[in-house]
Amino acid sequence: MREDILLGGPGAFLSEELGLALSERVLAYQAWWEAEGASLSVAIDRLGTPHLRQFNSAGERVDEILYPPSYTYLLSAGYSAGILYEVTERHDWRLSFLLGFITSYYDPGLYCPYTVTFSAWVPIYKYYTGARREEFLSLLSRREPPFGQGATWMTERGGGSDLGAHVGTQARAVDGLWYLTGEKYFASNVGADLAVVAARPEGAPAGIKGIALFIVPRERLYALGRNYLVRRLKDKIGTRSVPTGEVELHDAEGYLIGEARQGIYYILEVLNLSRVANSIGVVAHGLHALAQAYHFAMQRRLFGRFLVEQPLFRHELAQHYERLRWAGALAWLTEQWLETVWLEKPPYSERYAFFRLLTHLAKFWTAKVALQAAQWNLEVWAGLGTLTEFPPERLVRELIVTDIWEGTRHRHLLDAWEVLRRYPLLPRLPELWDIGAVDPYLLGELERALALPEEEAIPFIEPLLTRLAQAIGALTATQRSYSVLA
Ligand SMILES: Cc1cc2nc3c(=O)[nH]c(=O)nc-3n(C[C@H](O)[C@H](O)[C@H](O)COP(=O)(O)OP(=O)(O)OC[C@H]3O[C@@H](n4cnc5c(N)ncnc54)[C@H](O)[C@@H]3O)c2cc1C
Repeated sequence: MREDILLGGPGAFLSEELGLALSERVLAYQAWWEAEGASLSVAIDRLGTPHLRQFNSAGERVDEILYPPSYTYLLSAGYSAGILYEVTERHDWRLSFLLGFITSYYDPGLYCPYTVTFSAWVPIYKYYTGARREEFLSLLSRREPPFGQGATWMTERGGGSDLGAHVGTQARAVDGLWYLTGEKYFASNVGADLAVVAARPEGAPAGIKGIALFIVPRERLYALGRNYLVRRLKDKIGTRSVPTGEVELHDAEGYLIGEARQGIYYILEVLNLSRVANSIGVVAHGLHALAQAYHFAMQRRLFGRFLVEQPLFRHELAQHYERLRWAGALAWLTEQWLETVWLEKPPYSERYAFFRLLTHLAKFWTAKVALQAAQWNLEVWAGLGTLTEFPPERLVRELIVTDIWEGTRHRHLLDAWEVLRRYPLLPRLPELWDIGAVDPYLLGELERALALPEEEAIPFIEPLLTRLAQAIGALTATQRSYSVLA
């Protein structure tokens, strides 16, 4: 384990451990976070939920989110560094995700507004052909303030895993325009200029196939006033730097993206993008936890020497670090695959299926590894770790949320399993991925479990997929190769 990397911040980990090239811009962004951003982020976390002002002085409903000025300053730094426009103008996903890694090292909640903005931009760019295409795209691509912000709202009161059963928002067409009525129960980056929203067109079939994806701007474009209302803001334990609210849609103007009957594909594309970002972000925050543990251990003395010199501490730190390195490699491999397949449209290729497999593995496993690192950091700080005046508790709070949003562990395990059952990817691994030398014994166990009736395979799913995620991460970390075969 390289201790100098823990002291060198997120950039050192990216370049020295994962072999990723960093431009001056990424390094300058990290220096800004060290000098200014990190302390602002702590202050914003302590301040808690921003304020929702629902009525203006004339008594009209406005539903404005009031942020501290430091929040706008913090958010603008990422936009100015190019976290959005590098994607929208040059399709440079790598640079955007590198900036995302730096952001999330300090504040994974703050990475959410950027993530949901590019996740909203992509389906509009790929599938929306309506008259307002340029207007919507350029709103989300601004280089200068005020930056346009996006959001992705699918989840309703009944729950987020089973969207087919629980999306009840109705969309009705009148004279060529769509009007949406319903509510969204977890709506992050609420207050966004424009959200992509899951809704069910009148007469559409029940279940997942009947859901379409719509663009919902904050302001009505064909009438005056707010297009969506914010019922309240959630008081969350973590990711407090992004406001999450409950949204009401009362005949809100909606702009249908692509074909209504293909909506579920667009929704899954949106979610998969955010999942890649989440995987990258949690590794960064987990790394922050290990750096905190290391700093603490350098000044804590017990039994005649510093904690950092105690063999048991060193052993545990090295174990967490190694797993985080593998998790980081898996996340960046997934990112490389995203770059390769993001323009694909349904019906997707087998390569897209492999990307989906990687995305599910990366989302659940990176979140788990990072949360365990944060819990261990709190344990290292021990009594002090339990006090809110010290930093470890925040990292745990942040990582509990990032483990759940963008789909819980159960969902990703079951979805990864479904991909493997559907597509014969395991024998094709060496052709899809140039490392490909996953332990044949593990592959054999997977094949045997996949051949079992679904319910009988349940006990094997998590242990086997955990080992697969770890194996792919470890191989990638060793070879430092993220390449994708043609
Ligand atoms: C801070 C925050 C912000 C969010 N922001 C957004 C947002 O902007 N947009 C948005 O659309 N959503 C958002 N969400 C919602 C998020 O996506 C959901 O919380 C998540 O998908 C899980 O849904 P749920 O909480 O309703 O749990 P449920 O779907 O009700 O699941 C309950 C439990 O059942 C488990 N489970 C599910 N299926 C199975 C199964 N087959 N077998 C066994 N167990 C199963 C789940 O893993 C979970 O443990 C946000 C959530 C949070 C916490």
